[in-house]
Amino acid sequence: MNIGLTGGIACGKSTVSRLLASRGAIVIDADILAREVVEPGAPALLEVVRTFGQSVLHEDGTLNRKELGKLVFEDEARRKRLEELLHPAIIQLLQERMAEAERLQPDKLVVADVPLLYEAQMEDLFQEVLVVAADRGVQLERLMTRNGLSREEAEQRINAQMPIEWKKEWADTVIDNSGTPEETERQVEAFWRKKRLA
Ligand code: ADP
Repeated sequence: MNIGLTGGIACGKSTVSRLLASRGAIVIDADILAREVVEPGAPALLEVVRTFGQSVLHEDGTLNRKELGKLVFEDEARRKRLEELLHPAIIQLLQERMAEAERLQPDKLVVADVPLLYEAQMEDLFQEVLVVAADRGVQLERLMTRNGLSREEAEQRINAQMPIEWKKEWADTVIDNSGTPEETERQVEAFWRKKRLA
């Protein structure tokens, strides 16, 4: 069985992923796949260079993220074009990895950690979606601490995402990570048992 795991920034997706992995789930991290699809030699990187020019490459042929970031920053059309190039490649790789995991270890729970699952309308790729949520104040404090951001910067990042309330509404299961790590672990354990018995 496969599960998509998502939630707001700094709500605790990685924390819950780790707890599931330690119980035996196979975790696939979409952020890592997003880097893989632009590695040297990858077709999506060629497309990015064709669209945005050679300046997005370092001399050694790796992607110059800073330069690409500059080009798409504050240019909605370019940002959209970049997403259109990368999303299909990421989705394809994710589907391949999930299918491979399910084929090789059919009795394992496969969990895909996909921060922008709902924003990218990827819910149909998964049998179920698990949302990790935290109260806004807690989320803000944790984001400021983890990323060394001011309150204003952290608020901007949270506001740039889809409201967590919507994600909670659409989820098959919600884990509330506003409390202590122990409280979260109890919820993960309950979820794990339910899925193991299903
Ligand atoms: P995400 O992957 O959703 O961005 P993380 O799992 O990295 O979120 O959690 C965000 C930050 O909050 C991290 O620094 C993490 O160590 C911390 N954190 C997560 N859950 C808790 C918790 N229950 N209590 C205290 N700190 C937490």
